[in-house]
Amino acid sequence: MAKSSRVTLCSFCGKSQAEVRKIIAGPGVHICDACVNVCKTIVDREVKAHAPSDAAKPAFRLIKPADVKAALDDFVIGQDHAKKVLSVAVYNHYKRLMFGAGHLPHTDDTFPSEFTDVEVEKSNILLTGPTGSGKTLLARTLAKILDVPFAISDATTLTEAGYVGEDVENVVLRLLQAANFDVKRAECGIIYIDEIDKIGRKTENVSITRDVSGEGVQQALLKVLEGSVCNVPPQGGRKHPNQEYVRINTSNILFICGGAFVGLEGIISKRLGQRGLGFGSIQSQQDHGDAMSAENIMKSIEPGDLVRFGMIPEFIGRLPVVTVLEPLQVADLEKVLVRTKNAMVKQYSKLFAMDGVKLKFTPDAIKAIAVRAVELKTGARALRSIMENLMLEVMYELPSRDDVVEVVIDCAVVAGKRRPILRKAGKAGDAHETGLDAA
Ligand code: ADP
Repeated sequence: MAKSSRVTLCSFCGKSQAEVRKIIAGPGVHICDACVNVCKTIVDREVKAHAPSDAAKPAFRLIKPADVKAALDDFVIGQDHAKKVLSVAVYNHYKRLMFGAGHLPHTDDTFPSEFTDVEVEKSNILLTGPTGSGKTLLARTLAKILDVPFAISDATTLTEAGYVGEDVENVVLRLLQAANFDVKRAECGIIYIDEIDKIGRKTENVSITRDVSGEGVQQALLKVLEGSVCNVPPQGGRKHPNQEYVRINTSNILFICGGAFVGLEGIISKRLGQRGLGFGSIQSQQDHGDAMSAENIMKSIEPGDLVRFGMIPEFIGRLPVVTVLEPLQVADLEKVLVRTKNAMVKQYSKLFAMDGVKLKFTPDAIKAIAVRAVELKTGARALRSIMENLMLEVMYELPSRDDVVEVVIDCAVVAGKRRPILRKAGKAGDAHETGLDAA
């Protein structure tokens, strides 16, 4: 009797320790590994039965504007106003989608009936601002934060159906591809259309010949922007009869269009009656580092200015949220180099660290790179090419050298007056310097 009471048995199946692989003890009870597995299966089945089905789950996250802005701040320097405008616009956009799908806590039976017939319209966004100021980066980062599919298209490659070039449906196809052909996810994604200013009508007069590349494309984009069911050829290319199509509703896809709109300041300042401030003089102020007035002029943008620029009114009407990005100044570009999560200096430093080498940029070198980038007038885009040129030789040579522990870039290196400084570990651990070409 006394002996059998010492044998540990599973309280569920009654098997002894010898008959199972493991017995887990609890206060006054025991359970074997086989019974744990059976319990897990039961629990999983229950959880699955009560979980909302995938079809009922939203395919995106609703994030408050302040949180969207804070997340954008990690990746994009400056552009505070544009970030705020975008944060509110995407919050409203996805709130509207949540509401439509019945996913909001405040939209149950108690939701005021006076709003039943009110339809919240989609607010596509137009980003204007010089090249390399972060338009694409903002759109891409937004999609990342919201965890929705994202696709970029270039407006200049599009033509209206029947002409040489891409059909506008390919814009939607790219999003479908980004969503791994999950139509439901694609239908709440973000599409960024770049170079939208390049499809402006060339003159304000109505042309008697068809404007295939400009106004025609704007016309073709209208329906997609507003929301329609699009027949997308899954293999891309031109549409042809007998082809299989994937049907995608674009009414919940957020479109962000971007363009530099060179010359728009002139149009706005003319409207504002600042005749003394023609585009040329604004440009010359920019050249002298006083970009404030040009920016302020851009901030007074009105839909009529965009129409005068060459966009058709219906097209502009479908982009009700307009925001202006500012040209990045030297201090901003310095931050682009070192501050953001993916800052270029951090990226190069990581590459060097993989070879066991420390990469150091002196503050005056960072400033000199930023100054050079401003001179090139392509915003932050110029930084990459400057950095690539600067680092080429050293990135070529370093993997063949095992004596170098640190590479230093100072302003003389940026100015091309000398090669990057290579520091070797001395016997006593002190580093000593050589030029790149000194072995
Ligand atoms: P565009 O305004 O012409 O669309 P992009 O967003 O494509 O410019 O920017 C080009 C590159 O420059 C980006 O990949 C990014 O690394 C950098 N960049 C541009 N603007 C910013 C910014 N405001 N903050 C951080 N990086 C930026």
